[in-house]
Amino acid sequence: MALPDHCALCHQRAARQVCPDCAHAFDANRPDAPSRCRQCAVALPPLATLSDGAPLSGAEGATICRTSLPLVCGQCLRRRPAFDATLVLADYVAPLDTLMIRLKYHGALPFAREFGERLGDALATCGDDTALLVPVPLAPSRLASRGFNQAWELARVASRRAQLPASAHMLHRERTTAAQRGLSRDARRRNLRGAFVASDGVRGRRVVLVDDVMTTGATCDAAAAALKRAGATHVLAAVALRTPPTS
Ligand SMILES: [Zn+2]
Ligand SMILES: [Zn+2]
Repeated sequence: MALPDHCALCHQRAARQVCPDCAHAFDANRPDAPSRCRQCAVALPPLATLSDGAPLSGAEGATICRTSLPLVCGQCLRRRPAFDATLVLADYVAPLDTLMIRLKYHGALPFAREFGERLGDALATCGDDTALLVPVPLAPSRLASRGFNQAWELARVASRRAQLPASAHMLHRERTTAAQRGLSRDARRRNLRGAFVASDGVRGRRVVLVDDVMTTGATCDAAAAALKRAGATHVLAAVALRTPPTS
């Protein structure tokens, strides 16, 4: 694949699809990156306003920052998802959302390299050199019409980058489900019940479950539940972009 010579976002000359200036949209390059739920990576409100909406005093806020609590969002507290933790690169907002739309719906595969390499870099710093990367599979009908699974494209690149194995044969869609878009959180979960089956190959393994975007987390939850049923010991969801909370 030829190296790009212009940034896909600002069109200045660049050696990557996203130039260093535009790369400030990624959490890793943002001094003001949000804290995220350690389980589902949803952006959390700033620490200083966590206690029933009233700002904490400076000293109190500083104490909470120093202890860097493993924060979990209300949704995950109410119902723990089957995945143990989530890694994301950024929120699913402008300008990065446009690259993901071009990847998924217009087959712009170079963007899989951009997101995949950044996921790979993040995974390499996790220090887990035994994990197996597994993409969230597309429904067979969707795969036939799209011609590629964007999650596998991301996993393939991330696997090379992080020097971790990847396999597209560990997790399958057992049945075709209705499109998730427009469904409520509960309806999404019902829609996906029993949709995935994992193979015995994940028994005793730590799995990195790779997907493009996490919206409510219902897809990763159902996929992770299948991996756990098949004996995976730990599931880290590694997702390029995370839909921010609606309220
Ligand atoms: Zn740029
Ligand atoms: Zn959460």
